[in-house]
Amino acid sequence: MKPLVAIVGRPNVGKSTLFNRLTGGRIAIVEDTPGVTRDRLYRDAEWENRIFTVIDTGGIETGKNDKMIERIKIQAQIAIEEADVILFVIDGRTGITVEDQEISLMLRKTKKNVILVVNKIEDYSDPTTMYEFYSLGLGEPNYISAAHGMNTGDLLDNVVEKLPKNDEEIIDPDIIMLAVAGRPNVGKSSLVNTILGKERVIVSDVAGTTRDAIDTKFMRNSQEYVIIDTAGMRRRGKIYDNTERYSVIRSLRAIDRSDVVLLVMDAKDGITEQDKKVIGYAHEQGKGCILVINKWDLIEKDDKTLHNFEKKVRKELLFLQYAPIIFVSAVTKQRTDKILEIVDYVAEQQSNRVSTSALNQVITEATQLNPPPSDKGKRLKILYTTQVGIKPPTFILFVNEPEIMHFSYKRYLENKIRDSFGFEGTPIRLVARKKS
Ligand code: GDP
Ligand code: GDP
Repeated sequence: MKPLVAIVGRPNVGKSTLFNRLTGGRIAIVEDTPGVTRDRLYRDAEWENRIFTVIDTGGIETGKNDKMIERIKIQAQIAIEEADVILFVIDGRTGITVEDQEISLMLRKTKKNVILVVNKIEDYSDPTTMYEFYSLGLGEPNYISAAHGMNTGDLLDNVVEKLPKNDEEIIDPDIIMLAVAGRPNVGKSSLVNTILGKERVIVSDVAGTTRDAIDTKFMRNSQEYVIIDTAGMRRRGKIYDNTERYSVIRSLRAIDRSDVVLLVMDAKDGITEQDKKVIGYAHEQGKGCILVINKWDLIEKDDKTLHNFEKKVRKELLFLQYAPIIFVSAVTKQRTDKILEIVDYVAEQQSNRVSTSALNQVITEATQLNPPPSDKGKRLKILYTTQVGIKPPTFILFVNEPEIMHFSYKRYLENKIRDSFGFEGTPIRLVARKKS
């Protein structure tokens, strides 16, 4: 599980500038996938060989009518609950404000690591004012200029030092880790209860290794599963009621640890922007993806309803054509038995390995049917293809000129590979590499 670093502070102190500074240029993007909504709120950063996720809490939506100070407090609270390291940013030019003091009060009470960041310091010529920031009681200030990148390297050193030690979670490849993601109220807990109601729960409520994630382990037909709880937020009071972004954060953390993701949606609402972000993230992370349309009992249906619904969802999620869709009801239990069957199937597909000769035959036929692109007088030649990994299945295409490999041609080859070998429910990766 990647550590989480949250940036907190009132508006205009430079949070998003710092966010971009910390994450910019060092993002481990697998590939820009058209159609995947990228959430600016979140990004991975890398420093000293540690990868961590940074959130700009300023982007977390709270209630529309919340006053500024309420909004900041909710954002700070979320950081306190979720983050491993909190960067509290204040504006070194305006000095300490009442809001800064209120946030400091909250942060002083937490056991989490807090780093005080005084931003917009481009000029160190007046040391007297600098001491004012010690009065917040948050230790030694880090004076930086996010806009100019001054001292941000030192700040990153500081962050990395305070990250939790790599508590390598012991990953048992025989267990299927299942994340149940989705917006509040779509029926996640009801579905989980339905699933667990029938299966043998081995150890319930095993506290997760980090934070307060709750994992439930169970057994079915001699297969072990762990459901990673994302809905635990309800227990923790009212503050999150209208912070839908918060459910996204929890979902993303669960997805990081999972093999297969069930994205649960409410049939009445269909797919939302939040859903797209969450499942887009699962796709990028190479996780198995299953779309679960719940509350199917509430929909008036004729013989075309299901088909039309599926068509609409597929149109919204062009990058996810491979994902199975299942229509269920946690209340009537319609088709809920099928969920784990599909999970098993997808887990199997994720680990599928195909033979090199069969693979090369498929690629050769594909290139004969539809020749590779050319550019500046050169035509792409695919010399040899081999599968180098599973979960997700990953293929290296050795080619003459990797730059000529267009996204659309990759997509075409991906479809051909899927036509022949399946890989339902799992993203696959094609990497073009120069044959030396
Ligand atoms: P946020 O609302 O906290 O996310 O703040 P922004 O990152 O949007 O920055 C608010 C304003 O402060 C913008 O006009 C930035 O250009 C400016 N700003 C951010 N960092 C610095 C800095 O290090 N020095 C100076 N002089 N201005 C900065
Ligand atoms: P969560 O927030 O995603 O965990 O959602 P819950 O499982 O708590 O369900 C939210 C509400 O939807 C509850 O009132 C459930 O009884 C109801 N609900 C859940 N699944 C279904 C379903 O399949 N059909 C109907 N009619 N109601 C459902």
